[in-house]
Amino acid sequence: MKKIVFSAMRPTGRLHLGHWVGALQNWLALQEKYTCIFAIVDWHALMGEYEQSRSIRENIVEMAIDWIACGIDPKRSILFVQSHVPEHLELQMFLSCITPLGWLERNPTYKEQLREIKTRDLQTYGFLGYPVLQAADILLYRANAVPIGEDQLPHIELTREMTRRFNHIYKTDFFTDCEAILTKTPRLLGIDGRKMSKSYQNAIHLSDSPQEIERKTRSMFTDPKRIKLSDPGHPRKCNVYSYYTVFAEEKSQEVYQWCTNAQKGCTECKKTLSGILIKYLAPIQEKRAELVKDKNRVYGILEEGRRQAEVIAQGTIRHVREIVFGKDSPSGSDPSRP
Ligand code: SF4
Repeated sequence: MKKIVFSAMRPTGRLHLGHWVGALQNWLALQEKYTCIFAIVDWHALMGEYEQSRSIRENIVEMAIDWIACGIDPKRSILFVQSHVPEHLELQMFLSCITPLGWLERNPTYKEQLREIKTRDLQTYGFLGYPVLQAADILLYRANAVPIGEDQLPHIELTREMTRRFNHIYKTDFFTDCEAILTKTPRLLGIDGRKMSKSYQNAIHLSDSPQEIERKTRSMFTDPKRIKLSDPGHPRKCNVYSYYTVFAEEKSQEVYQWCTNAQKGCTECKKTLSGILIKYLAPIQEKRAELVKDKNRVYGILEEGRRQAEVIAQGTIRHVREIVFGKDSPSGSDPSRP
């Protein structure tokens, strides 16, 4: 039996190169080794973007298309939409009942987002409870591992604390701790040198046309000290160079030379990069275009994923009901379920 890995993304907009190097490339490697369950977590999107709820539906389909175009294989992995499996909310309810408020209020990501995000009112009951839904997402599939970056370690710790508390209160060992698969990913900034993000409008999307890629690459920040062509540059301080190291490592040595020796200017350097990115994204975009023309295939994949996810989720919930309410209680079993 392969171990189960769970991972998810919120459908809040088109995927960009940051998603590709930060998550999707790793997912491709994981699906070789584990049974992977990949969820498009639309409830999580709604928690933060409840005022833009109409765009979530379209984003779900676009996200599924991007995933498949990037190589996520529905024959090997389960791809589905969180809200299509209602057991996520049922397990969230069970976990909400046992989660002390202080754990959620102390959550560093929650505090940071309240501080940083001023354009949306996130002082809601739903948003405070998002780690409980996250824990439910993982525990519903009794996942053995979750791939995360170091900054997400507190989330996994919260899931572990909920697992232990559930097992302790109900004197069970049904849920087991899930491991973090720590992933080191290259740091890829947006074209303006800030974190690549939809909110900053500084991302190169996987679906950008060659013209958009060229335009965005042209406007990228470079070494601020390189003003004239004859000024030697400092590639390690240049965002354009960091793209070379990620997307064309074999070329980065040459770029380093021409930059530090002032042999080529930034305009030419960016033009070369845009050509590399266009070529790099071409196979993904080709596959993407096929899927866009055949959305029924995408809906079919999500439906098959829902079916597979639901079988696991219903089994977990049946056990949880029995553990919490007792086998013979009317709440402990659900006659409408197999
Ligand atoms: Fe950056 Fe290239 Fe200009 Fe050097 S030549 S500063 S690497 S854009």
